[in-house]
Amino acid sequence: MEMNKSLLKDLNAEQQNAATTDNQYTIVLAGAGSGKTRVLVHRIAWLCIEKQYSSGSIFAVTFTNKAAAEMQERIQALVGESYFNGMWVGTFHGLTHRLLRMFSEQAKLPPNFQLIDTEDQVRLIKRIFRELKIDEKQWSAKQCAAFISAQKEKGIRAEDIVPEDPKQVMWQTIYHDYQVICDKLGYLDFSELILRTYELLCRDEEVLKYCHHRFCNILIDEFQDTNKIQYRLLQKLTGNTANVMIVGDDDQSIYSWRGANADNLQLFINDYPETEIIRLEQNYRSTSNILDAANKLIAQNTKRLGKNLWTESGDGEQILLYVGYNDVDEARFVANQIKKRHQEGDNYSSCAILYRSNMQSRILEDTLLQAGLPYQIYGSIRFYERQEVKLALAYLRLLHDHNNDMAFEAAINTPTRGIGSITLDRVRSVAKQHGISLWDACLTLIQTNALSERQCLGLSRFLDLMEFIFDKVESQPIYKQLDLIIKLSGILQMYEQEPGIKGQSRLENLEELVSAAEQFYHSAENTVIEDSKTGKPLTVLESFLAYTSLESRDLVNEQDSVQLMTLHSAKGLEFDNVFIVGLEDGIFPDQRSAQDVEKLEEERRLAYVGITRARKRLTLSLAEIRRLYGREERNLPSRFLSELPVDALNQISHRGAIKSSDRNEYRDYKKAYPKKARQIDDGYKLGRKVLHNRFGEGTIVCIDGEGEHKRAQIAFVNEGVKWLVVKLANLTLL
Ligand code: ATP
Ligand code: MG
Repeated sequence: MEMNKSLLKDLNAEQQNAATTDNQYTIVLAGAGSGKTRVLVHRIAWLCIEKQYSSGSIFAVTFTNKAAAEMQERIQALVGESYFNGMWVGTFHGLTHRLLRMFSEQAKLPPNFQLIDTEDQVRLIKRIFRELKIDEKQWSAKQCAAFISAQKEKGIRAEDIVPEDPKQVMWQTIYHDYQVICDKLGYLDFSELILRTYELLCRDEEVLKYCHHRFCNILIDEFQDTNKIQYRLLQKLTGNTANVMIVGDDDQSIYSWRGANADNLQLFINDYPETEIIRLEQNYRSTSNILDAANKLIAQNTKRLGKNLWTESGDGEQILLYVGYNDVDEARFVANQIKKRHQEGDNYSSCAILYRSNMQSRILEDTLLQAGLPYQIYGSIRFYERQEVKLALAYLRLLHDHNNDMAFEAAINTPTRGIGSITLDRVRSVAKQHGISLWDACLTLIQTNALSERQCLGLSRFLDLMEFIFDKVESQPIYKQLDLIIKLSGILQMYEQEPGIKGQSRLENLEELVSAAEQFYHSAENTVIEDSKTGKPLTVLESFLAYTSLESRDLVNEQDSVQLMTLHSAKGLEFDNVFIVGLEDGIFPDQRSAQDVEKLEEERRLAYVGITRARKRLTLSLAEIRRLYGREERNLPSRFLSELPVDALNQISHRGAIKSSDRNEYRDYKKAYPKKARQIDDGYKLGRKVLHNRFGEGTIVCIDGEGEHKRAQIAFVNEGVKWLVVKLANLTLL
């Protein structure tokens, strides 16, 4: 009993109530930092220690592996190892994998079944393409793989699809064939894990009985981000007997693009009408300045279940808003702030820099490196180590140094050029035999007619292509060289075929690489780098290549380092000092949400997630000028900034600090903020479709000003995003 008291002493009354409830179905619906995860952990301890459930009865689901590891640690700390053993705590993928291992026979899987990742999946599909004589150039295997995964996430098998167009007819056939091969060879892709488990439980009474008997306590964190098939799986596992606790926050639902659905919260309440809903309203994480900002921001969303959050901790520091001259200036400001924090005694790891998209990390990485600050990228790969960046650089290297074998290996068959492994093995062995480079080995093989015609053709085509590119780029500055290489080598086309977010982010990274080279080029004009061995000055190209390979070396071990991550991967985590960068329209919220009110609301939830990661200090920043896609762009400040309480903000600009008594500049600034429309209803509202006689159809994404000064930002279907004065634009409301 002693232990139990101490178990609960760390919880407030509502939290205790939730952790110890006897209700079979419970939802803890509460805002960020209110202790949801803490309740879940304590409930598990409570169930084991007080309610005497065996540890084997616990089935606890979290969203990421990192969160799962953290939860395991927290539970162990509370209950000790002896209780902990036998608990199932993990992600949906991890736990279903475990179940399928236990019941592989019942799931009609070979006992040694293998997990395959997206790349394997695509390779398999390409094989089917070849068998079915489908033109790989016309149809994208990656798109097909994405289609199959999306179907599985909805619980749909190939035979259940009702195709809507010829493409789907084909995807359906491939889905079918793909599954036949996977089943035969014992391959499981990630979405199959969940669907297969669900089907197993539907089909096999015995297994279902086992689960019902064993997993009496099901607990799910971050429930707002579960998808359809996960929900159905949960229902199956629950049956009528299990105790279920779900914790979530509809305001933090940020994965709808991956099929997640916050409506699952409501669905659960409907499906289990006896559900007790517990709300937690005290936030223990953040200062009230930070919390007020988060609350005010999220209040702009219309689709909400609605919650209150308050805190007992004091106001804390104001939120710092820095307006940088450009992106480099912005990054330097952040680095300086972190330096200052460190000097004042904070660990580097208490500082997190959050950004909307991975491509934004490059400039931050460069700046942190220059400032000598250790950093770590969570959930992603350092910029210069990313596949697409490494590939483009390999081409650059190979063009200027034919003898660079590493670069040769990277470039020769990516994108695929139909040069087979037998041919490549020949090249390698000739190189080895004569002690020459792979490039020269190719030449030797071609000149000596030592290959079949087809093999010879493949290699000489590659060499010709490289010569061709070299002629084009030779006299150009490095950034133009990279740009041309990306376009001429087939790299661009290859990544254009990769569907969805991933393909897009690869293209963005390539553009970012060109920008990086350009910046380097301009700065290199003033600095001469010397070769450490010979003392001779390096050319700009040589220094750039040296720089990029140096960069990708781990400078520090990952002990105490600044944490860099996307806003998405920051979910559930907390840091004393949070920096959210790139608060500009078009970056955050991102371009895509400009045309879609629902997407905009999801972006706002993402901003809410970001802000609520901060415990003590929050710094927001933007750049007046940003190098984007190789161009200098001026973006408007993020509309989210205008939704924050002015009093909580302390704005500093690269032009100097702005005193609170002198807010003129700030006000000017605010004028530029696209304000939410609250004027007389003349029909021109966010989300409204309009027709312009020259630009065609578009959607209003922003309204600013009133009366005859009223301007609308319109995302046109074919003409991009434009600001128009409503009075003059002669628009037709659709
Ligand atoms: P998120 O929505 O971001 O996942 P959450 O609701 O899961 O947040 P937790 O991470 O569980 O919140 O808790 C936020 C912070 O507040 C943690 O540092 C936690 O230890 C602390 N905390 C929660 N409840 C209490 C409490 N009753 N007393 C003291 N600290 C608490
Ligand atoms: Mg949590």
